[in-house]
Order: sequence, then structure tokens, then C-alpha cells
Amino acid sequence: MNTPQINGNRLISALPASEQRRFLSRAQSISLSFEQVLHAHDEAVEFVYFPTTAFISELVLTEPLECIEVRLVGHEGMLGLNVLLGDKRAPFHAVVQGSGEALRVGRKDFLRVLKQAPKLDSLLQRYTFVVLKQIAQNVACTQFHKIEARLARWLLMTQDRAESEHFSMTQEFLSHMLGASRVGITHAASLLKNQKLIHYVRGQMHILDRKGLQLISCSCYDADLQNYQVHMHKS
Ligand SMILES: [Zn+2]
Repeated sequence: MNTPQINGNRLISALPASEQRRFLSRAQSISLSFEQVLHAHDEAVEFVYFPTTAFISELVLTEPLECIEVRLVGHEGMLGLNVLLGDKRAPFHAVVQGSGEALRVGRKDFLRVLKQAPKLDSLLQRYTFVVLKQIAQNVACTQFHKIEARLARWLLMTQDRAESEHFSMTQEFLSHMLGASRVGITHAASLLKNQKLIHYVRGQMHILDRKGLQLISCSCYDADLQNYQVHMHKS
């Protein structure tokens, strides 16, 4: 754990200098590792996270041992919106998907900062709206879009947050993320591999052709980008 020196989180970067200083005085820069569980569903949240280079999946778990990703949060967002909304219990399971750094703030400290940071408060209200729309988009995506299109979308989303063409990934993890069977994921990954869009070996995913993935991806990828753009950048 280090004292934060820099911040690469888009929400924090958008704050005026005075609010940024206030926030950073309460924040710690912390390293998160792949598959680390930050909190379980319904658990009291002790910290909120603003990823800088790490990214985190929020998952819904059903019985027995089935799960699906609700959303992916990286340097564009925040984990812990329930705290903002006045409930300390986590609505979802939170697992680190990409190892890296995040700014972490204790729940009580975060609420104190929020009272003295009107820009952060309004930004996070907008962000909450964006997240609601993201989750609704994911419901439609899961119901209506083909697995290979959903996989392509998910790989693009992950690449955006990893800011890299290479990242760790197991097929088992992928099937959990997309709520699909291992067989379905293997088939979809083979389709993308045969078209030379990705290379996947020993748990390492390599994006070979991002434009090709964009062509195969369902429209939800662009819808998400537009959603963020429209609501977070309005004056
Ligand atoms: Zn979709």
C-alpha cells in the first residue's frame, strides 16, 4: 500500500484540483491481484475503489455455483456505489479481473469527502445513472445476442480497461463472466481464433485484430461507450 502519487482514474481526474487533493488525502494506492475477492454479495463494504490500472467484475451468484457478470469497472469508474446510495451492504460479488492499481478509500472517509466535494458528488450521481443503463444493456445482451458477439464485446471492454492487447484469462473464468457453458465459450473463442482476431494460449489472451472484433461485436459495445460519453461529459 502506498501514498497515492498519481491517479489514472477518469472520475478523479475530472475533479477540480481542490477536490482532487481532498480525495487523495484520504485515499491509498493499492495493488490488486487477479481473482482477488474484494467483497462478497451482501457483505458490509469497508472500502470503495477507484481503479487506475486494475479492473474489477461485479457478479451475481445463483445456486449452485453459477454466476454472471453484471458489469466490469476499470479506470472509467468506481466500485462501491451502494455506499454513495446509503447502504453499506454490497449488492454484488466483486472480483479482480485484471491485476493492477486502484485508489482505495474507507467507507466513512469517502462519505466525509463527498460532503466537501460537490463536483465529485454530482459526477458520481451521473455515473450511477450510467451504471444503471449499463446493467440494463447487459440484460438485453445476455438475452438477445449471440455468444461470439458477446465474447467480442467483452474482449473489447476488457482491452479498454487493461489498456493492453494481452491479458490473463481462463476459459472457466470467461464462462462465468458471460454466464455461458464452457462448451459455448470454447466454440465462440475458436470462431474468433479461426478468423485471426485473437490468439489464446495457456491462460493468456492476445487481441490480434481489434477492428475485426468490433465488426463481430454486438451493438452493446458502442451503446456502452455512447452512454458514458453522453452522460459523463454533459455540462
Ligand atoms: Zn450485446
